[in-house]
Amino acid sequence: MDNCIFCKLASKEIPTNVVYEDDTVFSFLDADPQAPVHFLVIPKKHVSCLDECTEEDQELLGHMLLTAKKLAAEQGLENGYRIVINTGDDGGQTVKHLHMHVMGKRSMNWPPG
Ligand code: 5GP
Ligand code: ZN
Repeated sequence: MDNCIFCKLASKEIPTNVVYEDDTVFSFLDADPQAPVHFLVIPKKHVSCLDECTEEDQELLGHMLLTAKKLAAEQGLENGYRIVINTGDDGGQTVKHLHMHVMGKRSMNWPPG
């Protein structure tokens, strides 16, 4: 996707703080963290949102979740963490490339809103 910021981060066209990457997923720190630990996990291929996923993406979605779990442990989130997938305009999704927020180390006013 030509004008997708997350595609540009995943392809290294734009530098970012990489947490992890493999053949299919990419993880990086959120630029505007809402918790002391806040990173995103995205598929390397462009998928606009969860609603665009099909059965073909089952393995990819499972891999994203298990990657989030593994990275949460590596980031010291042994007391727990929050995973959020904002979907569509009513879901508050601002970047139209599927992403999981992983947030932790925030005990006050949690969950927000
Ligand atoms: P959404 O509201 O779509 O669920 O979340 C998008 C997230 O992407 C926001 O938390 C925002 O801070 C983050 N974000 C947007 N643009 C960039 C960027 O260029 N780099 C990084 N690292 N994070 C970004
Ligand atoms: Zn994209």
